[in-house]
Amino acid sequence: MHKTLLAFSLAALLAGCNDASNDSKAPTPNPGEHAYEFLTQLSSGAEGIGARPTGTASETEAANWIADKLTGWGYDVTRQPFSYQKKGVEMHSQNLIVTLPGKSDKLIIVGAHYDSTGEQKGSEGATDNGAGVAAMLAVAETLKGQTLPYTVRLVFFGAEENGINGAKAYAASLSADEVGATLAMVNNDTIAGGDILYVHSAHSDVAEYNCADPSRYSHDPKVRDRLLALSRQGDMTPFELHPAFPGYPAGETGAWSDHASFACLGIPVAYLEATNFTINGADGYDGYSQSTNPALWDCYDATTKSACDRESETQWGKIWHTQYDRLDKLQEIFPGRVQQQLSDGTTLLIRFLREPGLE
Ligand SMILES: [Zn+2]
Repeated sequence: MHKTLLAFSLAALLAGCNDASNDSKAPTPNPGEHAYEFLTQLSSGAEGIGARPTGTASETEAANWIADKLTGWGYDVTRQPFSYQKKGVEMHSQNLIVTLPGKSDKLIIVGAHYDSTGEQKGSEGATDNGAGVAAMLAVAETLKGQTLPYTVRLVFFGAEENGINGAKAYAASLSADEVGATLAMVNNDTIAGGDILYVHSAHSDVAEYNCADPSRYSHDPKVRDRLLALSRQGDMTPFELHPAFPGYPAGETGAWSDHASFACLGIPVAYLEATNFTINGADGYDGYSQSTNPALWDCYDATTKSACDRESETQWGKIWHTQYDRLDKLQEIFPGRVQQQLSDGTTLLIRFLREPGLE
């Protein structure tokens, strides 16, 4: 089903390219194609920056590259430096923030972390989380100069992989008035690569999020549900809610990424993620196995949707934080998939910011 959809979308994309090349007029900018160009420049070591391990000069290089892109489109970029502790050592990073004007002062925050893991040989952080950053850049480029229904802040977080530090620092910097004005936060983390596109809400059990003030916590699913509905309006792959698994009702996620700090402030959040919750992975149906593709398994058993031998399996269909999280490998294993999913994510964010439908 999914592969058929993908093949169809690719054919449509190719047909679109031919039309554009035969057209004497300037081609309409395609946000999805631009997003893939940005992803290549950010995550390919051969063609751009490559891996951006948290706390390294490459992380700073990525921040500067993002800021240059945004400045080039006419945005005022705010740099928010912050520090955090790692094993007793003070570390430094920064968030980058731009504001898109809205008819209303009410705020929507859209975020993605730009750092990547560095421990795993070969990972270039293409899907985790070059893809989220690339989609947000394409959104910024597409919506420049436009006035949206609500004021939008695009926030590029540093130091996620070391403890979600950028999002924590940004959330802590918001005034009570800003928090009160914020209608939604959308987190983009690993929005391409895995088999199925999901949108999650925060968890209905506040205990999952370890908030400093649990009384403020919001798990309102309205942002998730709006994104889900918008993805079903055609011209893109529909997103899904993950099925329930032990400890996690359908469509609800844990506190392990940048959305968590915002849910703790009482802001309704949504989290876009490409993975596969139908696989019985190392710890069950938890979404940590991203794909059924046999190339990502020592041995995959399609009848049980699990490893042939659960004792000896070492790969478990995982992409993030592995040697497979790089565009050259992903293109080899899943031709055209990252382009399509990145285009879907970008399209969905643009639709949402133009028609938030939240009040
Ligand atoms: Zn991530």
